[in-house]
Amino acid sequence: MSPARRFEDKAVPGSVYEPRSAAALGREFPYRLATVCYFEVQTDGTVLWGGGRESYDRAVAGESRLFAVWPGEWSSHLFLIDDLEVFARAVGIVYDPKWTGLAEHRHEVTWSIREEQPKSRGAYVTVDVRLDCGCEILELDTFAQHLRDQQGWEVATSGAWGGSGGKHHVRVRRKSLGS
Ligand SMILES: [Zn+2]
Repeated sequence: MSPARRFEDKAVPGSVYEPRSAAALGREFPYRLATVCYFEVQTDGTVLWGGGRESYDRAVAGESRLFAVWPGEWSSHLFLIDDLEVFARAVGIVYDPKWTGLAEHRHEVTWSIREEQPKSRGAYVTVDVRLDCGCEILELDTFAQHLRDQQGWEVATSGAWGGSGGKHHVRVRRKSLGS
């Protein structure tokens, strides 16, 4: 058996593998998932974890390599963060409207609370949102941040959301919606 095999889904005890490529997964790699652990291995062997701006700068400068562990239910996987530009856009170090779908402007939002059966009495409600400014929600964290700043909404970033073509639905704390 080769000592370093690629792309194994399950680790065989006693075997070692090369990390997988995060870039190969494109947007599917969960760069912002809170349970993803980032760590860097510097050229002198120093290991640090965190994966913030400083890690990015060192990786770009070639002083370190950046890795991430993506935990799963039954096993976890090790990835090399091999496209640092994608990483920077995904975690918000670089603001890219093409990645988030959201221009840095005041969005023109038309919205309505979706009627649910039975009528929801929870703190959060599903809100149908139309973006008349031409934006698209591709990245929920950024949309939540923009709407918090612009309209005081508390958008649930862990709840269900979806939509396309400027028409979306998100979960918003009812009290934050105002009138
Ligand atoms: Zn917009």
